[in-house]
Amino acid sequence: MLHPKSTEITFKLNNGVQIPALGLGTASPRERAQETKQAIKAAIKAGYRHIDTAWFYRTEPYIGEALKELLENDDIRREDIFVTSKVWPSNWNHVSESLDLSLHDLGLDYVDLYLQHWPLCFQRANDEKDGIHGIKGIPVNEEGEAVLENGADWIETYKQLEKIYLDKKDKRVRAIGVSNFPTNHLKRVIKECEVKPALNQVEIHPHLPQLELKEFCDEQNILLTAYSPMGSSGAPIIKLPLVQELSEKYKVTANDIVISYNIRKGIVVIPRSLNPVRIAGCIEFAPLTEKEIDQLDSIGIKDPIRYIDEFFATSIPGFTGTKK
Ligand code: NDP
Repeated sequence: MLHPKSTEITFKLNNGVQIPALGLGTASPRERAQETKQAIKAAIKAGYRHIDTAWFYRTEPYIGEALKELLENDDIRREDIFVTSKVWPSNWNHVSESLDLSLHDLGLDYVDLYLQHWPLCFQRANDEKDGIHGIKGIPVNEEGEAVLENGADWIETYKQLEKIYLDKKDKRVRAIGVSNFPTNHLKRVIKECEVKPALNQVEIHPHLPQLELKEFCDEQNILLTAYSPMGSSGAPIIKLPLVQELSEKYKVTANDIVISYNIRKGIVVIPRSLNPVRIAGCIEFAPLTEKEIDQLDSIGIKDPIRYIDEFFATSIPGFTGTKK
């Protein structure tokens, strides 16, 4: 049976906007950030039409350079690509300004999806030497803990996103959503805000299937995006015996199995790679059976592993601050 490529599959957000199911992640190691430019070009050539980035990643300027060349050469049209960016907790009270900085670096007039990166508010601190646009990424105290803004409420950030989205004259975002939000945080947003998040971007892979969150998001018509689908640097998920076995069965790469696992469940997936061969080798869709998906889920039900367990996120249920 013939199947579409993973790059050809799209899902619909709750406001009707289409999102390509497969996107390229760009949270590259800082010393390799500039390689993101060639990765974007390789991805677009391979058929990707979705790029995931954020103010915090320091990759937006390189994505901007790649997009400028691709658009100028008529390799793509702006309306054919989907770009996601995110507002970081240091900018929790400066959403509009942060969006403008991202748009400037990306060389775009609008992003397709704009996310609240974390339900956290960091104290804002200047850092001309090492900051991002002069602002410290993660303010840390002498004990090595992240410094949260006293009395600040993370919901304020979502309200600022919502204001931009609801302003009919403001065309800078086509959809808004959140990231790293557990169910109770989503419930609060749904109760206190006007616009339901279109999407929640969280860590998902066979070692962390997040089945309860998925059930809640399905009920609420909120799409999920799987970040760190390969288990992040070192790609431990690729090495799982069942992933290897399925890769042989379907005659696709192990990366394709992990990507197809998410897409078959209706989850957007954003693997990162700076390797053009790998990027082009991750676009075959494998029609995994329900049983195979259940078997993959069972890995994480029995032995959950959160690879992106940030030290600053311990106030969020599910995060312990002990990165694997
Ligand atoms: P991934 O899980 O996508 O893993 C990427 C790493 O795995 C790269 O170093 C890649 O190396 C390597 N890799 C992939 N396949 C293989 C393979 N077959 N063999 C060996 N190495 C392999 O990691 P990320 O944590 O980057 O997650 C993806 C994206 O999700 C991010 O880039 C970012 O856009 C987003 N994200 C969002 C977060 C949030 O808070 N919202 C948090 C974390 C990520 P190579 O470059 O050589 O291919």
